[in-house]
Amino acid sequence: VTFESLGIIPEIVEACQKLGFKKPTEIQAASIPVALSGRDIIGLAQTGSGKTAAFALPILQSLFAAPQPLYACVMAPTRELAFQISEQFEALGSVIGVRCAVIVGGMDMMSQSIALSKKPHIVICTPGRLVDHLENTKGFNLKNLKYLVMDEADRLLDLDFGAEIEKVLKVIPRERNTYLFSATMTSKVEKLQRASLVNPVKVEV
Ligand code: AMP
Repeated sequence: VTFESLGIIPEIVEACQKLGFKKPTEIQAASIPVALSGRDIIGLAQTGSGKTAAFALPILQSLFAAPQPLYACVMAPTRELAFQISEQFEALGSVIGVRCAVIVGGMDMMSQSIALSKKPHIVICTPGRLVDHLENTKGFNLKNLKYLVMDEADRLLDLDFGAEIEKVLKVIPRERNTYLFSATMTSKVEKLQRASLVNPVKVEV
C-alpha cells in the first residue's frame, strides 16, 4: 500500500516523504480511503499508530481543494497533545500553506483571540478553552466548519469535557464530517458517537 494508492495527491505524498513516512501505517491505510469517500469515522487506535496523520491527511487534502478559514477543529484532551497535533498538521500541510492555531487552557486568552482573528485553517484545542473563546471572543465562530475531530475521546470524557463538547456540537454545522478516535470503546464514547457522528465507518487496527 502507498499513500498514492489510497488517493493522496502528489503534493501531500511529497510532504509525507519529507517527514520519513515511506508508507501508510495500518490505521492510515484503513482510514484514509473512508475519509476521502466523505464518510464519518470512528477509529479505535492507540497513540503511536499514526492516527494523527490518519485524520490530518484527508483534511489537508480537502482543504487544498477549496481553502477556507476555520475549516477544521480538532479537540484533544491535553495541551501537549494539541501542540503535537498542530506540529503534524503544519509539517504535512506546509506545502499547501496551512495555518493552524492552538487554543488551550493555561495560556493567554488575548494572544489566542488575536491568533483566531487571523483566520487559521485549523484550530487545535482543548474543549474548555474553545468554549471560552466561542462565548467571549468577538467575531469568532465555527459556523463554516467542515471537519470536527475528537482525538482520544475516551480521555476527553474521563477528564469531564463532555459538557463542553456538547456546547461545541450545538454551534457547528450539522453538515460536516466528524472523526472520533479513541483507544478504548466505553459506554461514554458510544454515547458521544451517537450524538456526533452520522452513519460512521468503524476503523479498528
Ligand atoms: P501518532 O500515533 O499520530 O501519535 O504518531 C506516532 C508517530 O508516528 C509520530 O511521530 C508520527 O510522526 C509517526 N508517523 C505517522 N505516520 C507515519 C508513517 N506513515 N510512517 C512513519 N512514521 C509515521
